[in-house]
Amino acid sequence: MAAPLFERLTIIGCGLIGSSIARAARRHGLAGEIIVADLSKQVRERAAALNLADRITADIAEGVAGADLVIFAVPVLAMEAAMIAAAAHLRPGAIITDVGSVKGSVTDALTAAAPSDVFVIPGHPIAGTEHSGPDAGFAELFEGRWTILTPLVSDDPDHAEALARLTAFWLALGAQVEVMDAAHHDLVLAVTSHLPHLIAYNIVGTAADLEGVTEGEVMKYAAGGFRDFTRIAASDPTMWRDIFVANREAVLEVLGRFTEDLQALQRAIRWGEADRLHSLFTRTREIRRGVIDLGQDSPESNFGRDRGRH
Ligand code: NAP
Repeated sequence: MAAPLFERLTIIGCGLIGSSIARAARRHGLAGEIIVADLSKQVRERAAALNLADRITADIAEGVAGADLVIFAVPVLAMEAAMIAAAAHLRPGAIITDVGSVKGSVTDALTAAAPSDVFVIPGHPIAGTEHSGPDAGFAELFEGRWTILTPLVSDDPDHAEALARLTAFWLALGAQVEVMDAAHHDLVLAVTSHLPHLIAYNIVGTAADLEGVTEGEVMKYAAGGFRDFTRIAASDPTMWRDIFVANREAVLEVLGRFTEDLQALQRAIRWGEADRLHSLFTRTREIRRGVIDLGQDSPESNFGRDRGRH
């Protein structure tokens, strides 16, 4: 077997994403040693029972010591505190990355707290489910999915080498890797992930409020459309609170566009503009086919599990 890509991998936060990385890194032999640091006793106990790492600790400083790859996999607004706890103990030359769903504010937080002798390369695997915690993770989560890396611009050859090593790590987990600017990432994800979640949270809330009027019929007759929204709206409240707080500007921008388009639809319905409705629904059906053609739809590629994209 080839030598592992990293001597010591430390994952901070052993939830859905952190535990999936731990499982996949071990399966593919990508690290000589895997260490998990998580503040939650319950999570540490589950991680130990599931044998997810060689060492499990509550102490972030102790966890990152000697690691040549550190991955922050905590909720977006917890990244800064976790980095502050780690900073003084990072090994010079270590690669520091994260999996946060928002990149601009997380990049600022990580780079502000990191020492100057490590390589901070933020990242985001576009793979996930509506479930949380170490039991929800699985080694195949990243296979066939995109991971976006948002490195700062640098002409340092050592930085380029660190980026190449981190890219090799994600490729070995089965992901495809794309590099882009953090601000662009946040706008793209606001459209493809954050707005759809906001709509789901809103429509399920509205339907729940209507429950009193319809005496249970909304839940009882939940057909495909509403049922799918309830799955998305079951996503982790802490994670999504953090995403909307951290990606405020991009979300507000796409929400403005969405609201305008919704008003145009409202008008089309009011005035019976059937052709207009039909032409929109035809266009969106084509987009759906494109998503399937790109292999980014769930059923065929998700090993039987529902996968959201955050
Ligand atoms: P999760 O299952 O809730 O796991 C997060 C873990 O981090 C929990 O065990 C949590 O413990 C722990 N934690 C919180 N603050 C911490 C701190 N300061 N130090 C150490 N551990 C801490 O969340 P997840 O779904 O894996 O998400 C993790 C990150 O991945 C988030 O930034 C999210 O935006 C990103 N992401 C998620 C998805 C997805 O589909 N879920 C997809 C792509 C990216 P407690 O439970 O005690 O708080």
